[in-house]
Amino acid sequence: MRQSLLQSKIEFLKGVGPERAKLLQSELNVYTWFDLLYHFPFRYIDKTKQQYIKDISVDGEQVLLRGTLIEKKLIKGKRAKRLVAKFKDSTGFIELVWFRGVTWIESSLQTGVEYGVFGKASIYNGKKTIAHPELELTKSAEGKPIVQSKMDPVYSSTEKLNTRGLDSKARKRLVKNILSKISAQDLEENLDDKIINRLRLCSRYDAIVWIHFPTNEQQLRAAQNRIKFEEIFFVQLKMLYAKKMRESKLNGWDFQEVGDKFYGFFNDNLSFELTGAQKKVIKEIRKDLGSGIHMNRLLQGDVGSGKTIVGLMCMLIAIDNGFQAALLAPTEILAQQHYSSITEMVEGLKINVGFLSGTVKGKKRKELFKLLKEGDIDILIGTHAIIEDPVVFKNLGLAITDEQHRFGVMQRSRLWNKNKVKPPHILVMTATPIPRTLAMTVYGDLDVSVIDELPPGRKPIKTVHYNERKRPDLIAFMHKEIKKGRQIYIVYPLIEESAKLDLQNLQDGYENLEQYFPKPDFQISVLHGRMKPKDKDFEMQRFVQGKTNIMVATTVIEVGVNVPNASIMIIENAERFGLSQLHQLRGRVGRGAAQSFCILMTSYKLSKEAKTRLKTMCSTNNGFEIAEADMKLRGHGEIQGTQQSGIAGFNLLSLVIDQEIIKTARILAQHILKEDPKLASQSNQRIRKELNRINKHKIDLGSIS
Ligand code: ADP
Ligand code: MG
Repeated sequence: MRQSLLQSKIEFLKGVGPERAKLLQSELNVYTWFDLLYHFPFRYIDKTKQQYIKDISVDGEQVLLRGTLIEKKLIKGKRAKRLVAKFKDSTGFIELVWFRGVTWIESSLQTGVEYGVFGKASIYNGKKTIAHPELELTKSAEGKPIVQSKMDPVYSSTEKLNTRGLDSKARKRLVKNILSKISAQDLEENLDDKIINRLRLCSRYDAIVWIHFPTNEQQLRAAQNRIKFEEIFFVQLKMLYAKKMRESKLNGWDFQEVGDKFYGFFNDNLSFELTGAQKKVIKEIRKDLGSGIHMNRLLQGDVGSGKTIVGLMCMLIAIDNGFQAALLAPTEILAQQHYSSITEMVEGLKINVGFLSGTVKGKKRKELFKLLKEGDIDILIGTHAIIEDPVVFKNLGLAITDEQHRFGVMQRSRLWNKNKVKPPHILVMTATPIPRTLAMTVYGDLDVSVIDELPPGRKPIKTVHYNERKRPDLIAFMHKEIKKGRQIYIVYPLIEESAKLDLQNLQDGYENLEQYFPKPDFQISVLHGRMKPKDKDFEMQRFVQGKTNIMVATTVIEVGVNVPNASIMIIENAERFGLSQLHQLRGRVGRGAAQSFCILMTSYKLSKEAKTRLKTMCSTNNGFEIAEADMKLRGHGEIQGTQQSGIAGFNLLSLVIDQEIIKTARILAQHILKEDPKLASQSNQRIRKELNRINKHKIDLGSIS
């Protein structure tokens, strides 16, 4: 039973264990060895270029050296020991230092033998040092040369992963570990040989080995090509299937009634006038729901355009027709927020709203499941826990996913199965505008509605770009706004690979601020990912209630925070953020009546790309324009080997630069389905199997005729 090896629980991989397994599940959605293999590096450190010590001239430069260790010494400091070693090549000397794990490292280092050394060099007073370098012997004990890994994978991480021993380096070890235990049979080929040959793809197994540990550029390209093709090919195939099914046998639930709940809400509970765009979109959706055809619709609308109300009113129509509705949110915070605001909005309408996430446990969970099954819950709001198997509805008529771009294409389909008689109507909402041509490719058969208007009275947010020289002006401005009663966010970036530096950054910023905004006249909240949920909540509440003037935070506030009195967003090291993230962050302000500001702070030295991003932010508040610019830039970034998680949940595929691959995949998928609609032929068995694997939890292919 070799096939099941990759299905082993991640917990049972050497170096993981139950604690880390939990973290891998919650942070990365990794449950099995297979899942971890499919978390690819987001970039590679090129170790192919060896340097000489004398040529090191830039502080902070990544260097690869080859030479001999001539001396090592443990030095006792005031608090802790450090290990210092002297390393030389034919051109000079450099010092290597370690502050952690020194005893163990000391015992493993050999003097007098040749090493390859890799790390970040620092130059201080002309003296060159590398702290915590990586060392690899260049020859084996018998004197044979050892092949060096040339392109070192770097995995994207989160604050939590970094602090619990699952940083990039640890993940690399884990992946290596898996690969050492499996062979090509364990990762069964999922494309027919004819396709592989015709398209000159590498095998699935090679692709996975090479994507993690390429020995050269060609291998990396081959691996990327194969994986990108696979990503889009199966999505296309699946979509074409779904479309076929929809067209051939699906008539949707017919919601003829627009009744008490809808009008009750509209007449009594709705405290503002809907915008024209909201009305237009609700009409479009109402038409779908009453047409007897199954609805599968994408609702686009910029941050703050009022998608929630639209979603809610559609759910009320479902309830008016005796059905249940579900609203799925990508994060716990956002789901919570929807739950409390929607509960409030439907007050007095006799509607039961339920909440489900991973945190709802035990008795409460059981009770909820029972109510759902018996139809005593009208609206279920929650995280992706909703799409899991134990959740059974009595009669789900409408399923809405919020912030669709954060879910994979595959997750979308699992909602379909939540009503066994006929799939529920589907509405997906997103603030990430997708250019129409791309939407067609990715969302295939979805209809699209757009809210292209913000609620009235919103003053456009003023965005400016400052560098350090303007810091005094910024402080003065903050004082002025606080005096007016406004509140301020200051966001620090999460620095990949160094959670330590990250927090340091925030800590320094906080201490600096305290000098300008001393207690007791001023109060400052702090919020970052490594705080306990209880403390996070406490700090957040202080800010929400206006007890603090300033909120210093990492990007944990990116989605779902709604504090109308906060009108100033200051983003530190703004050059480190992507465009869509900047736009999301900016969307935290501009929610109240006051004029809002977004201030992008950067250093002087900026890359060309960073300049474009900042310029774009300052010149427009329009999400569509930002998305276009973002796509252009991201395509560019990818050429340099930076992987972006695409809008549709692709790992490697870029919707911008991989147009050719997308086209090929689409044509091939169409061709295959035309020749063999049921994928019954021998040559399509691998594909069929893979589709079934992907679709495990949903539509049985056999049911499609
Ligand atoms: P998003 O589209 O980003 O999900 P929300 O649905 O969260 O936006 O709406 C943002 C805010 O605007 C909410 O506080 C909501 O109550 C308010 N809002 C929505 N529609 C209107 C409207 N037509 N007039 C005034 N305020 C509105
Ligand atoms: Mg929203």
